[in-house]
Amino acid sequence: AEEMLIRSEKMSIAGQLAAGIAHEIRNPLTSLKGFIQLLQAGINNKDAYYKIMMEELEKINTITSELLFISKPMTDEKDEEFMSIMLSDVVTLLNTQANLYNIDIQLDILEEVKVYCDKSQLKQVFINLIKNAIEEMDSGGKIEIIVDAKDERSFVHIRDEGPGIPHHLIHKLKEPFFTTKKNGTGLGLMISNQIIESHRGKLSIKSDIGRGSVFTIELPRSQ
Ligand code: ADP
Ligand code: MG
Repeated sequence: AEEMLIRSEKMSIAGQLAAGIAHEIRNPLTSLKGFIQLLQAGINNKDAYYKIMMEELEKINTITSELLFISKPMTDEKDEEFMSIMLSDVVTLLNTQANLYNIDIQLDILEEVKVYCDKSQLKQVFINLIKNAIEEMDSGGKIEIIVDAKDERSFVHIRDEGPGIPHHLIHKLKEPFFTTKKNGTGLGLMISNQIIESHRGKLSIKSDIGRGSVFTIELPRSQ
């Protein structure tokens, strides 16, 4: 048993993903199969069934598009980019959605920093983290994004006023398929963490139950 434990700990990220995907896609597929059988049997209430079937298809669709993103070859399109520009692009993109939920996104640039990075990948990270923050703030509030630097390191703090994360769950967040959402994929933070690490950076999470969470991205600053 111990040996198996060691082996599963050593299971590659690809292996974990493959196992997770099989599971995550099988559930909606099983459900779709069931509904098709019901429809074949000629039931009433078809519209309700079609609606659920569409939702199940949508789940499979979301999972596959996130996976396509992961499996995309890491094109090395790195360049020196301003953190403030990447972030304001992303905030502009997400503002419409945020406003709908009465959320105010505030961007504070304490120091202009440049990082050597693949712009589209880092933007994807910012989108994932800010979207998560929005999704936790049902009753509105403020999301604060702070850009700062110390010596050779740059920092982006994303602070929300959501419910916070129980201490014992924090280490699970970066695992593939961990989600507390009805239609979540649990892939966003895993992908984000992977992108940050491939930029020689670090993603850390702090949270206070009832007060909110702070996700911090630390990256080498370019000179
Ligand atoms: P998904 O958003 O599809 O659930 P993620 O990997 O983006 O997948 O997030 C995994 C889980 O981490 C979420 O389901 C949620 O439980 C938790 N989480 C992420 N961001 C936050 C946050 N800002 N506040 C509270 N919980 C969060
Ligand atoms: Mg997410």
